Amino acid sequence: VRTQADIDARVARLLRDLGNPPPPLDLQQVRALLELDRTYYTSGDDGFLAQIVSKMKVAGKQVIRRPSILKEVITKFDLRSLLLPDQKRILLDRSVPEKKHRWLEAHEIAHDLLPWHGSVMFGDTDHTVTPACHQRIESEANFTAGRLLFLRDRFTEEVRSRPIRFAEVKALQTVFGNTLTSTLWRYVENIFDNVPLLGVITCHPHKSRRPEDFKPADPCRYFIQSPAFARMFSQLSEVEVFGLIQEYCGAQRGGVLGEAEVTLRDDNGTLHVFVFETFFNHYEALTLGAYARKAVTMVAVP
Ligand SMILES: [Zn+2]
Repeated sequence: VRTQADIDARVARLLRDLGNPPPPLDLQQVRALLELDRTYYTSGDDGFLAQIVSKMKVAGKQVIRRPSILKEVITKFDLRSLLLPDQKRILLDRSVPEKKHRWLEAHEIAHDLLPWHGSVMFGDTDHTVTPACHQRIESEANFTAGRLLFLRDRFTEEVRSRPIRFAEVKALQTVFGNTLTSTLWRYVENIFDNVPLLGVITCHPHKSRRPEDFKPADPCRYFIQSPAFARMFSQLSEVEVFGLIQEYCGAQRGGVLGEAEVTLRDDNGTLHVFVFETFFNHYEALTLGAYARKAVTMVAVP
């Protein structure tokens, strides 16, 4: 928790130095302030990587002791982006879909912003970073990227001042300039502690539009839950939820696929009504499920 407060103070200082700009955050300005360069590479393009490595040697900065290690690191960790701390350079894999670049770039900016990351990124080639340490560093970078791209508490305040509807997720995607998926993710997971909310990311749910490799036993790419939802509905399976979604979704090629009131049973057996809305952005279907009310249960009259 101390680290999160420390990180947030650094993000606050950075945004203040930029004049606390309104969303969307311009990452080019952030890089300019931090004096970071950005270079694209194509995974598999060994020549380009060799060139980068040779530049490093020219600069005389021995982050990388053996020229082959950069390629090893990229392959081993299946990297789509990385930061060369001593070169103040972010490398982005061009073959990653462009809409994902913004998150990756913010993630690498985070590694630069957190001074204790520099020494562990590649470390010494003589001793390797433990997986637990690597994981902690990565989650700190993701936390920082989220605080940056959603301008600390600005997103939270915007969300809380609006009704809980998918249309608002879309509107906030435009305002903050992040992907619809990352916007939905944050909307569901980070804002409301006591409101049961869920976000589901799937293929097109309509039978006629599912991909050939659709797995009925594993239908959801992501199943995002607010803390209250996770506490109350721990028994609910992704398969059940997908089953409910496909019942009201049409076969439209894009846009809104449908909306319905859906009844879910909590861990105590109590029934609750949610409003589900599903939207297809041509790649994935995003569903927001917002708590509406306790279901009225029928009592048999003798
Ligand atoms: Zn990282």
